[in-house]
Amino acid sequence: MALDPETFDALIDTVRRFVAERLRPLEAQVEADDAIPAEIVAEMRDMGLFGLSIAEEYGGLGLTMYEEARIGIEMGRTTPAFRSTFGTNVGIGSQGLVMAGTPEQKAQWLPRIASGEVVTSFALTEPDAGSDSGSVKTRAVKDGDVYRLTGTKRYITNADKADLFTVMARTGPEVGARGVSAFLVPRDLPGLSIGEPEKKMGQKGAKVADVNFDDVAVPAANRLGAEGEGFKIAMRVLDRGRLHIASVCVGVAERLIADCVGYATTRSQFGKPIAEHQLIQGMIADSKTEALAARALVLETAHAKDAGKDVVMESAAAKYYASEMVGRVADRAVQIYGGAGYIADYGIERLYRDVRLFRIYEGTSQIQQIIIARETIKRGG
Ligand SMILES: Cc1cc2nc3c(=O)[nH]c(=O)nc-3n(C[C@H](O)[C@H](O)[C@H](O)COP(=O)(O)OP(=O)(O)OC[C@H]3O[C@@H](n4cnc5c(N)ncnc54)[C@H](O)[C@@H]3O)c2cc1C
Repeated sequence: MALDPETFDALIDTVRRFVAERLRPLEAQVEADDAIPAEIVAEMRDMGLFGLSIAEEYGGLGLTMYEEARIGIEMGRTTPAFRSTFGTNVGIGSQGLVMAGTPEQKAQWLPRIASGEVVTSFALTEPDAGSDSGSVKTRAVKDGDVYRLTGTKRYITNADKADLFTVMARTGPEVGARGVSAFLVPRDLPGLSIGEPEKKMGQKGAKVADVNFDDVAVPAANRLGAEGEGFKIAMRVLDRGRLHIASVCVGVAERLIADCVGYATTRSQFGKPIAEHQLIQGMIADSKTEALAARALVLETAHAKDAGKDVVMESAAAKYYASEMVGRVADRAVQIYGGAGYIADYGIERLYRDVRLFRIYEGTSQIQQIIIARETIKRGG
């Protein structure tokens, strides 16, 4: 159920001030340290950010998709790694449990996920199973009242600090997605180990690492849904996750446009602010138009999801358009800043690197295109 308008406006206002006053001043530090300061994580917990999408009965804020997308836009106005700190708890790490968990599983985990005491991760990708995620090789073999998991998951966000993984593993002999099941796997089970965090292009402060399973005995009670339902659960989780990521893309684009306007109105060349040169105005106009279009698509799709409509196609379209859009906006921002756009002090090159990831994870742009086309053809237009 949606919050009452006053409470929601107050929440948006609190997040906006948190981003402006607490997070933005720390952007360069997060980039240099490749870590989010502990006091910021504590403040995020206090604000309830880890439990945005978890029902109030489990201690979360129980936001609708529309409300979550509005928060995503606000969080997009700073280094995306800040959002990643709680992003897996709000999205891909917890939603399998929210959507397919039993009352016992939910009662065991959701209150601590909502409070941020337990950090979650979503482990689908493997060295040989990326876009073709239905081809995962990690095996889960039933052995009495446990499943024995063996395999490797790759590029898992927040693996370095996660306490609980939602893991997709193969339980059946079927080839492809039908033999995949989902499991809740606590980090402290014997045989589970985490690799070294990867060195990566951007989004410093948000780490990814391998998660290795060497004959890990997972209680059968930790399976989410029925055997063979894991892939379906993962795809439902990603439908929601894609809309969330799209909202963050809108926020980053709006931030970059504001930065560009600030720079272009103060930097002068040929005797006037560069904002008065029409070729610069053309770039600002293109960025603004595309950001407005993405915002409208994201929020309309979020409303439709809240109304119970099937938004598989629209979520893919929102993620595809918004992630490609913010890439173009970041590229124009570097151009508008000129040499300064390429220099670290101004922060534009950092966001340019950060936003590149949005076109890759939670399904690449090509995978979104495939979903959009498939669903459009299925619907007959
Ligand atoms: C920083 C980061 C964080 C991540 N976090 C997580 C996480 O928390 N959990 C998780 O499970 N995964 C995570 N991932 C993995 C991510 O989801 C995958 O990298 C992504 O889905 C692409 O898979 P891949 O890297 O194997 O690329 P590939 O699938 O090998 O794709 C390579 C290229 O081929 C294209 N391609 C593939 N198939 C087709 C096709 N049928 N038609 C046309 N083109 C195609 C792709 O679009 C891409 O351009 C993360 C990745 C990164 C980099």
